[in-house]
Amino acid sequence: MSIVAIVGRPNVGKSTFFNRLIQRREAIVDSVSGVTRDRHYGKSDWNGREFSVIDTGGYVVGSDDAFEAEIDKQVELAIEEADAIIFMVDVEQGVTPMDEDVAKLLRKVKKPIFLAVNKVDTASKVESAYEFYNLGLGDYYTIAGISGSGTGDLLDAVVASL
Ligand code: GDP
Ligand code: MG
Repeated sequence: MSIVAIVGRPNVGKSTFFNRLIQRREAIVDSVSGVTRDRHYGKSDWNGREFSVIDTGGYVVGSDDAFEAEIDKQVELAIEEADAIIFMVDVEQGVTPMDEDVAKLLRKVKKPIFLAVNKVDTASKVESAYEFYNLGLGDYYTIAGISGSGTGDLLDAVVASL
């Protein structure tokens, strides 16, 4: 089964979107021990196409450097494992150095990457998303994981890439 990974810095809304994806489905969500301890796996489907989803996002206590290294590690694991990657960012925070760090890793990847600008809850925030072009990943999808707004277009594209 194809694997879709959701990556991004903490608090952008990855888990909210993940929970929406696996909602009311026979989810096999579990925490795997070892190097993958902070990853959650679930099963989802869209347009009749089933796929596995990985929600990344471990928390490490320590320096900013250690924290960034952990996020890098998770992104690298996701890149290895996944067939498609959703890179989530937060329109309220705008582009952060950690986003740039993740984007740098993803720009080298040959797999399909989908930039999802989350927390676009209102039409007025759509314009604020433009700055994410600066991440050098091309076009993006504006979504609101909480309401599901925009997620259909994103999932159409993700599923079509699998
Ligand atoms: P993660 O750390 O990337 O997994 O982020 P979470 O899913 O835990 O969400 C972090 C915070 O962002 C929570 O307070 C969510 O309720 C909030 N959040 C997630 N999606 C949205 C959204 O579409 N709009 C708004 N306004 N907040 C959101
Ligand atoms: Mg999370």
